[in-house]
Amino acid sequence: MLSPAPLFLSVLLLLGLPIGLHSARQFQTLNMKPQYFNPKLPPPQLTASKRYEGSSDLVHLRYHMGPVLSSTPINIYLIWYGRWSASDQLLIKDFLLSISPAHTRRASPPSPSVSEWWRTVSLYTDQTGANVSRSVVIAREHHDSAYSHGTHLTRLTIQDVIASAVRSAPFQVDHKNGIYLVLTSEDVTVQDFCRAVCGFHYFTFPSKVGHTLPYAWVGNSGKQCPEVCAYPFAIPSYMAGSQPLSPPNGAAGVDGMISVIGHELAELSTNPLVNAWYAGEDPTAPTEIGDLCEGLYGTGGGGGYTGQLIRDGAGRSFNMNGRRGRRFLVQWVWSPILKACAGPNAID
Ligand SMILES: [Zn+2]
Repeated sequence: MLSPAPLFLSVLLLLGLPIGLHSARQFQTLNMKPQYFNPKLPPPQLTASKRYEGSSDLVHLRYHMGPVLSSTPINIYLIWYGRWSASDQLLIKDFLLSISPAHTRRASPPSPSVSEWWRTVSLYTDQTGANVSRSVVIAREHHDSAYSHGTHLTRLTIQDVIASAVRSAPFQVDHKNGIYLVLTSEDVTVQDFCRAVCGFHYFTFPSKVGHTLPYAWVGNSGKQCPEVCAYPFAIPSYMAGSQPLSPPNGAAGVDGMISVIGHELAELSTNPLVNAWYAGEDPTAPTEIGDLCEGLYGTGGGGGYTGQLIRDGAGRSFNMNGRRGRRFLVQWVWSPILKACAGPNAID
């Protein structure tokens, strides 16, 4: 699950911790003790600065014996809920299609790339030693432009949206390697959106959809709360003085959504039934591989600072390349090898 940015930022402010004040020395290595905090913990539990340093029970990501998405390719069943522009759809699809390695070297985007970012996700394995698949395709798309379940959705009615897509049969029931990805347009409100979550993943209930299928939802926050869910392309008012970053594709809402989609896909693939890879003792509030690196996009990042990014000639920030010359800013994920957050734009 991806929590809104201000929650963790306000925790830092409460702690009086410096934001964006990392010395160059701290950029040296990924193996340093990771500095992160669990945004899901309420501030009272984070009063001790020792906790912020990353206490071992939180960093201790464990495998709970469940499956990961190891069949190849991972099939994404994409549901566009509400009204979407063709250009925004193309941008999001270009991100999803950038995850798989290109077939030829010539077709590969330059490093750092989205597929290099996903390589860290593919390091996770199941009981048999099978890795998360490196290849991801869009199996099918369904357009629900008539808002068939209204302009406000809840956690449960999102499952009705999936059920409608499955019943109207543009979608097959894909137990083996399917991901059902619901994307809501900027005029759709969703339970807890902008307050507690920017996106989440779970699995469907047989009583709702007829099957247990892993799914994720991500909303376009562009109109409702860009400063919450499209951070750092918009900045909360209490951070007066900080400048928002210029989004790589010129659309804060959709560019912000792409990082949340990356976060949720990484977690869904390593914890599809919420019984595989997560940290913490409470399975109802698992800390997953995206949560551990929330808000961190480059070397030296953490504690409210994005880390070192790349800027194009127009001043737009990004940290990875995709297909067709696209550029994206996507948060890092926890590496089971490095035992730290990792991304393709890391500086050695
Ligand atoms: Zn998460």
